[in-house]
Amino acid sequence: MNARVNLNVKKDLLKYGAKDWNECFHCGNCTAICPLTDDNSLFPRRAIRLAQMGLKDKIKENVVPWLCYYCGDCSKTCPRNANPGELMMSLRRYLISLYDWTGISRLVYTSKKFELIAIVVIAIFVMILYINFTVYPAGDPNKWLGEDGGVLINNMAHWRKIHLADLIMAGLLSFFLITNIINMWYHMILKDKTVKVNILDYIKGLYLLPLHFITQKRFSKCDESVKTYWYIHLLLVIGYVTMFTMIVGFLEWFQTDKVHPFWHPQRLFGYIATVFLFLGIIYFYYNRRKKLRENSKYSHHTDWAFLVLLFLTVLTGILMHYFRISGMPKLTYITYLLHLMIAVPMLVIEVPFSKWSHLAYRPFAIYFSYIKNLAYKRK
Ligand code: SF4
Ligand code: SF4
Repeated sequence: MNARVNLNVKKDLLKYGAKDWNECFHCGNCTAICPLTDDNSLFPRRAIRLAQMGLKDKIKENVVPWLCYYCGDCSKTCPRNANPGELMMSLRRYLISLYDWTGISRLVYTSKKFELIAIVVIAIFVMILYINFTVYPAGDPNKWLGEDGGVLINNMAHWRKIHLADLIMAGLLSFFLITNIINMWYHMILKDKTVKVNILDYIKGLYLLPLHFITQKRFSKCDESVKTYWYIHLLLVIGYVTMFTMIVGFLEWFQTDKVHPFWHPQRLFGYIATVFLFLGIIYFYYNRRKKLRENSKYSHHTDWAFLVLLFLTVLTGILMHYFRISGMPKLTYITYLLHLMIAVPMLVIEVPFSKWSHLAYRPFAIYFSYIKNLAYKRK
């Protein structure tokens, strides 16, 4: 094996959340018990070995951590309490920072202070933009109300301005995420000279990307006890994707001056997505707080940051909606500002550099693994 040992890997992995993996003596129990192991793989044991040996380059090329969904069966049954499930989780965080060429992921994952400062700086930036490009509803409150009693939100923060800012942000986040995925592809596919993936392989596997992005289908192979976790995770993803699509794709329709009836699709989609998001937040918070499941026993600071930011984003969104339909212009203006000051830092940090990037990396890892297997079979 032509690979260099990196003595910092052990220290690094501790910062990314891994704890006792060095206790592993390779009995193979985790491979036997994991519901996702296939016949001829050393899943997840090979990744443990690479971490123990400090083979950073090999870790970077390794798809294994992305194939684990942290059901925790291996950790529960490991005779050495080496906690392989938690190592897989930490390796995923580590890999996110290795793919990220900007170095921001590494800072977010290894420094609470950096994450907090980044959130505050982005929030202040958003506040400055909002105050400069919107109109505070001063004077007679009635002049800010429409015929149906709702706040004329587009008179204070016109959807076109917000939409432009949305598109710029989405473009920037996509740029970082896509370039990081290219880096991942380079290390997993291109650098591996033992196999040549051809264009047909790439095309054949394409369907896996939307499939695994939306459903996290492999997760459903884990045993019954994690099914609830999978369903709630699915609801959270649906809620997030619905909200994101309405805000970035259809803001003119979503940010309306009208107060539609309760059953109007504009309100209904918003409510359903909000309920899904809230269910996910409460479930995952409760699990972490009570350490109910193997995958919630150890929480990294980025796990909490994600939950808190998402909760505050949803809460301020609900308040803003309530104030708007109840005809309270000043409170609508202020909660809209607060909503953006929380939602934007959350998206900027979480989507390309932290927790939410796994929504993209995992389907791509499954895709790369699949097309590599096709190429191996042909060989
Ligand atoms: S992590 Fe535990 S179960 Fe897996 S090989 Fe090591 S000692 Fe065995
Ligand atoms: S946590 Fe579950 S899916 Fe992940 S390696 Fe262990 S047994 Fe397999």
